[in-house]
Amino acid sequence: GDEESHPWTEEVYAKLQRVFKLGSFRNNQLNAINSTLSGKDVFVLMPTGGGKSLCYQLPAIVKSGKTHGTTIVISPLVSLMQDQVDHLLELNIKATNLNSRLNEKQKRSVFELLVNGDLDLLYISPEMVQASKKFQTVLGSLYRTKNLARVVVDEAHCVSGWGHDFRPDYKQLDYFKNNFPDIPVMALTATANKYVISDIITNLRLNKTDITLLRQSFNRTNLFYQIVPKATKAAALIDTIKDYITTYFPSQTGIIYCHSKKSCEELAEALGKFRISSSAYHAGMSGNERIRVQKAWQMNSIQVICATVAFGMGIDKPDVRFVMHYTIPRSLESYYQETGRAGRDGKYSYCITFYSFKDVRKLQKMIQIDKSLNKEGKTVHLNKLQQVMTYCENQFECRRNQILNYFDEQFDAAFCYKNCDNCVKKLLDVDGDNGDEIQEQDVTDTALQILRLVESLSRERVTVINCQEIFRGSKTAKFIQAGYTTLEGHGLGKSWSKMDVERIFFQLITMKILQEYSIMNKCGYGSSYVKVGPEARKLKNGQLTLNMKFKVPAKK
Ligand code: ADP
Ligand code: ZN
Repeated sequence: GDEESHPWTEEVYAKLQRVFKLGSFRNNQLNAINSTLSGKDVFVLMPTGGGKSLCYQLPAIVKSGKTHGTTIVISPLVSLMQDQVDHLLELNIKATNLNSRLNEKQKRSVFELLVNGDLDLLYISPEMVQASKKFQTVLGSLYRTKNLARVVVDEAHCVSGWGHDFRPDYKQLDYFKNNFPDIPVMALTATANKYVISDIITNLRLNKTDITLLRQSFNRTNLFYQIVPKATKAAALIDTIKDYITTYFPSQTGIIYCHSKKSCEELAEALGKFRISSSAYHAGMSGNERIRVQKAWQMNSIQVICATVAFGMGIDKPDVRFVMHYTIPRSLESYYQETGRAGRDGKYSYCITFYSFKDVRKLQKMIQIDKSLNKEGKTVHLNKLQQVMTYCENQFECRRNQILNYFDEQFDAAFCYKNCDNCVKKLLDVDGDNGDEIQEQDVTDTALQILRLVESLSRERVTVINCQEIFRGSKTAKFIQAGYTTLEGHGLGKSWSKMDVERIFFQLITMKILQEYSIMNKCGYGSSYVKVGPEARKLKNGQLTLNMKFKVPAKK
């Protein structure tokens, strides 16, 4: 258990402070460390950013455990490996990595360090374990001389076909237990449901009868989640942000995540004009400048950081009271990780995301033209973005429920205790009288109007945005020429706000009542158009009704 005293306890705490320069352990870290130092197999499920690395990096330098020698870490990404090794070297920990990018001479020198016991940690890619006979020989001799401390499998979900990231090389990692049955293995991941966990245990041949299973709930009980419709005009949006900060967080620190360097800078400057001390933080700034800003913020002399996602890695400020997303994140993983930087001290904190359909479109475009992604990569990123959009648009279901389900965790919304916008009716609100009522409204008739409009356009190629404009009664020359202004559905939605129309359309797409389809042009970039979806019939014959929440009044 956590509190038990072991022969290595003193050394563990001393090294936490002196080597890693950290004050205390986070949830489950000490438990993992004690278990592996006792020689047990350990499985750790912890969110990204939760502190998995310490679970094996610290034991790797502890000399008073039951196990001795080098810790072997299997890690799938060479770039991440290098980051970790650099970080360890900065802490004066003896570490290096072995991967297929090294030349023969470099590999030889790694083996030399390994044989001579000059490594506390060796990071190795899974394919090298199989491919390098030399590695296997060296490992065998380390084992025989009792200098193989433990084997760590990072991103362990890759061993499972159930997972979303199966890697065949990971299947071969039972090599370690097959050859060195008494060497403890630690498997870590940020994503695993019960099937994946059971696959990991079976495939790595972990000791089922004496394993330490550390599964941490991903629920951050002290965070309040809220999605706020994003004003179209930058000035209005900045005004809203200013109001939030001055009303609810007058002297408290926060982070506002933006997508571009430019918006970081503009936002920081605009907030400055309202006498909110703020600073931009992005990859375009010099290293020194970034360190200066980060320190000033950490010492509370800057209140708000307007940052790109580059900010946050390696930052552990406990009293961040709010995290805002000026633009939606690209995936729910990022959302979870970035909002997770709020309230590390356990005190109540807020996560406020400004959402607009327009940003979704913008991000979709960026993914589509991203040259670093192949076709599959694009699909993956577009899907992740779609999940963020679904999350933002979902105004019924508890946010916690949605987030935790995404991470394969069962959750009962009653245990949200009304700590998300969908579970409460009173919201943090800055326009007007502190908390408009949110009301549910039946929009089935409007949905039918939209559906008929889309049907009447079935021979045309019309984008979702154009269709929304026609519905709201736009009379551009283009629409007049195409005859869209004479359609029966033209202007039927003129009493709705643009935002509400966007939301209703999106809801219809999510429910597959409408459907987007794309046609690739010569350059391979798709334009998407709207058509009737497979579930449309259910709406028409009354099997489906559509209720949505609106701030009252929804209609003008
Ligand atoms: P993971 O691998 O789970 O994504 P990391 O091991 O990279 O997470 O840790 C995330 C961040 O948390 C790092 O900046 C790390 O320094 C910090 N961290 C880890 N453990 C602690 C701790 N006990 N106290 C404070 N910060 C910690
Ligand atoms: Zn909730």
